[in-house]
Amino acid sequence: MTQVSNEDPLKTHRIKLRSAIKPLKLTCGHSLDIRMIPNTNCPDCWKVFFLSHKEMTQTNIKLLQESHDAEVSAVHGSKYVKQLKRFAVFVYELSVKEGLIAN
Ligand SMILES: [Zn+2]
Repeated sequence: MTQVSNEDPLKTHRIKLRSAIKPLKLTCGHSLDIRMIPNTNCPDCWKVFFLSHKEMTQTNIKLLQESHDAEVSAVHGSKYVKQLKRFAVFVYELSVKEGLIAN
């Protein structure tokens, strides 16, 4: 009789995959796991995080533009909202500087 393993091979694979993703060592000196919201106030860490989640970032900037700050804050926290606003200003200023949008 063959012994049937209780271990779910897919679960084992997922755990292996998860632990294989190492935090990024950034030039600011911090280590960042891009799957999680940064626990620092470092603008560089947040920039990398926002750029790594482009779709979510764009959606949430749009929500902030439509004054849905409370809704975004309820999902991601007030720190996220503060940093996202800072990031939106950074992107705007960079776009003006690069001539992508008129001042
Ligand atoms: Zn940093």
